[in-house]
Amino acid sequence: MELKENVSFFQKTAVEKKCTVVAVSKTQSPEVIRQVYDLGIRDFGENKVQELIPKKENLPSDIRWHFIGHLQSNKIKYIAPFIHLIHSVDSLKLLKEINKEAAKNDRILSCLLQIHIAIEESKFGFSFEEALKLLESNETDAFKSIKINGLMGMASFTENKEKVRSEFSGLKSFFEQIRQKIKKENVEMKVLSMGMSGDYQIALEEGSTLIRVGTSIFGERHYH
Ligand SMILES: *Cc1c(COP(=O)(O)O)cnc(C)c1O
Repeated sequence: MELKENVSFFQKTAVEKKCTVVAVSKTQSPEVIRQVYDLGIRDFGENKVQELIPKKENLPSDIRWHFIGHLQSNKIKYIAPFIHLIHSVDSLKLLKEINKEAAKNDRILSCLLQIHIAIEESKFGFSFEEALKLLESNETDAFKSIKINGLMGMASFTENKEKVRSEFSGLKSFFEQIRQKIKKENVEMKVLSMGMSGDYQIALEEGSTLIRVGTSIFGERHYH
């Protein structure tokens, strides 16, 4: 029952705020994902390749799978045939490998650059400077089988809402800057992936076009 209410709440949010809602299904069983699917959700997010593959094989083929976790180059080949959007591209090397696997599958793979906006230390994500430098360089020009469709960011894990707001707002400004400045065949800024269960309202107020919601749809995660 709760699942049904949660899903319908986010379906309403998607319409009202004109955003995409990705149901983050990591750690959730295929049975529970199927229930959410039956309620009408088609976008699901996973952060581990080894968890995603068996789920994909056991669930309907019209699901749009989003990859939201750290991606290792040697695992791209497993998801390249079907993945809808990779949110977590954090290096030139990864982009190059995604391009290669996409070409093998005769696909153009849609990617977001992950930007590190939080105060927490993280090995993952570009700084604004690094991302801009990459996009302004000619290093990605030869990648014909990818499309850089936007940016993804995670705000600091803090109770300080103004801090979270300023991080989201900074990412939105950067997104707009790139959208206006970078004119390339394989760059088309459309998706700003920001906001999770704890901060999606702030993210939407600051211009998010896609929220990634796990706990608020499925309930608490149980790791096993
Ligand atoms: C787990 C995860 C989410 C969802 O988190 P919730 O707080 O459960 O909504 C969103 N984005 C990423 C990258 C995640 O790893």
